Amino acid sequence: MNKTPFVTKEQIEEIVKSYPTPFHLYDEKGIRENVKALKEAFSWNPGYKEYFAVKATPNPFLMQILKEYGCGCDCSSYTELMLSDAIGVNGQNIMFSSNDTPEEDFKLADQLGAIINLDDITHIDFLEKTIGHIPETISCRYNPGGLFKISNSIMDNPGDAKYGMTTDQIFEAFQILKEKGAKEFGIHAFLASNTVTNDYYPMLAKVLFEQAVKLQQETGVHIKFINLSGGIGIPYKPDQEPNDIYAIGEGVRRVYEEVLVPAGMGDVAIYTALGRYMMGPFGCLVTRAIHEKHTHKEYIGVDACAVNLMRPAMYGAYHHITVLGKEKEPCDHIYDITGSLCENNDKFAIDRMLPKVDIGDYLVIHDTGAHGFSMGYNYNGKLKSAELLLKEDGSVQLIRRAETPADYFATFDCFEIGKKLR
Ligand SMILES: *Cc1c(COP(=O)(O)O)cnc(C)c1O
Repeated sequence: MNKTPFVTKEQIEEIVKSYPTPFHLYDEKGIRENVKALKEAFSWNPGYKEYFAVKATPNPFLMQILKEYGCGCDCSSYTELMLSDAIGVNGQNIMFSSNDTPEEDFKLADQLGAIINLDDITHIDFLEKTIGHIPETISCRYNPGGLFKISNSIMDNPGDAKYGMTTDQIFEAFQILKEKGAKEFGIHAFLASNTVTNDYYPMLAKVLFEQAVKLQQETGVHIKFINLSGGIGIPYKPDQEPNDIYAIGEGVRRVYEEVLVPAGMGDVAIYTALGRYMMGPFGCLVTRAIHEKHTHKEYIGVDACAVNLMRPAMYGAYHHITVLGKEKEPCDHIYDITGSLCENNDKFAIDRMLPKVDIGDYLVIHDTGAHGFSMGYNYNGKLKSAELLLKEDGSVQLIRRAETPADYFATFDCFEIGKKLR
């Protein structure tokens, strides 16, 4: 498939007059169409709800768009809870799925009335000591261990993941929580990340639904919801076939009819906590070529760096790159596209075939809408970029300004430079 940016060279040339590169740009139209399709795909389940994984794109303007479609928030930290509350998503519209959880985080989650999703059996005592009670609605995170396979291909390695309770532990946890007064139960599992296959969710659903039937039968608790979590991926590479959300919804429906309905559990709500799928393709990092270097390899230096997008440096992740205005030119040059960090892994692409890049060209780095800006950091004293929203009417809204040196030095309370710059 041909990957084309959702923005043209002409549009970028207008935008940069107000907002210099680099910046992350988000596509409102794409976000809205995608969330509508997701809701439709699961509309067969009356209790269905998407809790957007805030960590993917913690921007209140974007979260608010999803809220319009009834999405809740999946939070995993104190500030993510604050952010959800700030846009009016609170109570059971928050799923709090954290691990290695600090006391303060549980306290705030409880104050906001969030559904707490316990990562470990020992967290039952920890939570009770911290907030003084066990909530009536509670969820447990399950990790069956082993390898997660779809017809012989290994999708991921839950046995090596720090998250969730073992099979024995989740039975025991439900029993203990029931004795301590919990009334409504949920189960959650995240067993494979960035899956580009329509089979992941249905396979996961089968594991969780069968487990839920056993749990309800053996412990006598009422299971209110099953949370299929994140993991639906996006085609970062042009040759990947995108997921078909309708096929995924239908696949989960079939397993629901096969496993839950015959067990008398046709009232169970399906929850999802997608991040990447909700936002990934609808964001891009726009950067400008500022240097070319001809040494042992051909390098193009851009004005963004790994601080703006960490995935290539961190996981060797592929992000497609389009040189704006040269979409139709042959990709007959081979480049490493680099940022300016003093780290040799600060490369957005290695040995990438692209059209000839000239200084001043704008490069669109695709699929940065999730786990893009949010993973950013400040190494080398680099400042984080702005985030912009390309609205449906074609206008552009600044939804987060770029950091300034004053922001970077703001935490040096006792040091002159911190004071001077504030
Ligand atoms: C990160 C995360 C998600 C979202 O994952 P995606 O791959 O972005 O869909 C959902 N649930 C939990 C608990 C997570 O940690």
